[in-house]
Amino acid sequence: MSRVSRSRSRAPAVLVIAATDSSGGAGLARDVRVLTDFSVDALCAVTAVTAQSDRHVTAVHHVPPDVIRAQIAAAFATRAIGAIKIGMLGTKDTVEAVVAALSEAGAASQSGAGAPDRAVPIVLDPVLVSTSGGVLLDAGGRTALLASLVPRATLVTPNVPEAAALLGEAVAADESALIEQGRRLLGHGAAGILLKGGHAAGAESVDLLIHGRESVVERISAPRVTGASRGTGCALAAAIAAGLAIGKSLPDACRDAKQYVLGMLENG
Ligand code: PLP
Repeated sequence: MSRVSRSRSRAPAVLVIAATDSSGGAGLARDVRVLTDFSVDALCAVTAVTAQSDRHVTAVHHVPPDVIRAQIAAAFATRAIGAIKIGMLGTKDTVEAVVAALSEAGAASQSGAGAPDRAVPIVLDPVLVSTSGGVLLDAGGRTALLASLVPRATLVTPNVPEAAALLGEAVAADESALIEQGRRLLGHGAAGILLKGGHAAGAESVDLLIHGRESVVERISAPRVTGASRGTGCALAAAIAAGLAIGKSLPDACRDAKQYVLGMLENG
């Protein structure tokens, strides 16, 4: 066995269940880059192939559900998986395929908020719409995501509009309303909710981590970096999954991921 393959087999691994973005700004290409930065191997299950620039989504091909299930099963048959990152799913059928495949793999147990027996940590980035305005999850998919995947997640990472859309509510007008929405999402069975405030105003970019049976709120802040950047949501969730795969606690993984994304933004 070569040195390269020996060291690869020892590295922690994250299974990325996500779509490709032909611009490379977001999606699977971004996730793999982030995991590489954390010295974590990536296994992947492609949910959709998207054609997009930074300004438009021009085509989406949804991978058939049986092929998604086969990819996830094959990933689990390949090696031990330390964490799962879920990104764009696209349709209700895809959400259901992912839920079925994770259940078959024994990777997800639905057992209430903060339950300690979730087999593999799952970081769920509820990707609904691209920055350019393309719809990345259909209406049935949103409902299925909330009903079937959120309860299995270790962490769900909505931004402010995504939290409102998942709950079918208006966008929170202030931080206390946002925290209440986070707690309502937590009530759907996830172990943690990270409300991303990256697109809000102010000198600081503040994320709110709500987790545990007491729904404790922790503020995670970093200096705000101005200028548009795509793929920050993907990168944050992938970096958190990397941290969990390495064995970090949920708050530490979130804090380190925030610093990682700050560095990414500062370096353009
Ligand atoms: N396209 C794909 C395939 C994605 O997975 C995501 C986010 O996860 C996006 C687009 C949206 O990224 P952005 O909001 O940076 O456009």
